[in-house]
Amino acid sequence: MSAKDVAAKVVRPEIQAMHAYQVSDATGMVKLDVMESPYRLPPGLAAEIGDLVSRVAMNRYPVPSATELRVLIREVMQVPTGCDVLLGNGSDECIQYITAALARDGAVVMAPAPSFAMFAMHALFYRLRFVGMPLRGDFTLDVEAFLEAMAKEKPALVWIAFPNNPTGNAFPVADIERIIRAAPGLVVIDEAYQPFAGATFMPRLAEFDNMVVMRTVSKIGMAGLRLGYVCGRPEWIDAFNKTRSPFNINVLTEAVALKLLQNKKILDAQAAKTLEEREHVRAELERLPGLKVYPSAANFLLVRVTGGKGAGTRVFEAMKRQGVLVKDFSGGHPLMDNCLRLTIGTPDENRTMAEALKEALR
Ligand code: PMP
Repeated sequence: MSAKDVAAKVVRPEIQAMHAYQVSDATGMVKLDVMESPYRLPPGLAAEIGDLVSRVAMNRYPVPSATELRVLIREVMQVPTGCDVLLGNGSDECIQYITAALARDGAVVMAPAPSFAMFAMHALFYRLRFVGMPLRGDFTLDVEAFLEAMAKEKPALVWIAFPNNPTGNAFPVADIERIIRAAPGLVVIDEAYQPFAGATFMPRLAEFDNMVVMRTVSKIGMAGLRLGYVCGRPEWIDAFNKTRSPFNINVLTEAVALKLLQNKKILDAQAAKTLEEREHVRAELERLPGLKVYPSAANFLLVRVTGGKGAGTRVFEAMKRQGVLVKDFSGGHPLMDNCLRLTIGTPDENRTMAEALKEALR
């Protein structure tokens, strides 16, 4: 039997049917597709990191508990006392660990839809039923419908991205509180975009037994390091920790993240610049006919190209021809037809992006 025949027989049908996570080739493009920070490190700090990396013992396995990094994260991210921290190779991996720990037979995972794709993907990998509760047409949360669905589905796990990706808005705190209070299981507040939002559930961890807060350093200049974390009561963190690969944070990530978090002020200043730029870009794009710009508390803007079917993709392709890569959501969730997600870049990149968009809309 050929590999193809054996694979067709033994690989799960739902895995055969799916596509691997797509990342576009951005070589030579203005890259505004995946919400990275556009800023590199100051040369002095970069040189210090070079020196530091040269001294890392790469022949040794990492310390599995990554204690030093966890202690520093606690301190700089103001994790409340009494809470523990789990580290992941990106918060993507934290999503995997949380799902694995809660993957009882027949368990349900819920989230608003559209939201971050990996919530549903890991539910699929661990054979859980995923219920995506549609947002309203303007991407606001219909909390009553969500509460009703929760009462019916009794989800073991609820994901709330706060602010939400790909829509960019932050759902009202009071609505999220109602969801946490009514949830029969765990609610994870995914605060990947918190540095651009201000609001956070982190200080409120002690208030809710069934809530944990997940964050990432990817959006504040460290996407390439792959580091995410979950903060919560030890009862939750201990359970997730049992599903973790023992050496998931490699020695280079640990060494560099320690150094960068000790210099978090630099990253904070970059995030503040992005926030300022977001409002410039918004003002500029709101003037363009044929475009609706949605509210954003993140480092990107979601826009909808008005016009018939295919209008969004045509604009996306025309921007790409001009060397600007953004993210096209047509063909995904039905609410997202003709929507493009524009990551905020440097002032220069944003100007180039706005020009390309203007040209594409013409
Ligand atoms: N959560 C949300 C809401 C996201 O948008 C992303 C990445 N785009 C992640 C989690 C994962 O980020 P990372 O794995 O880089 O930490």
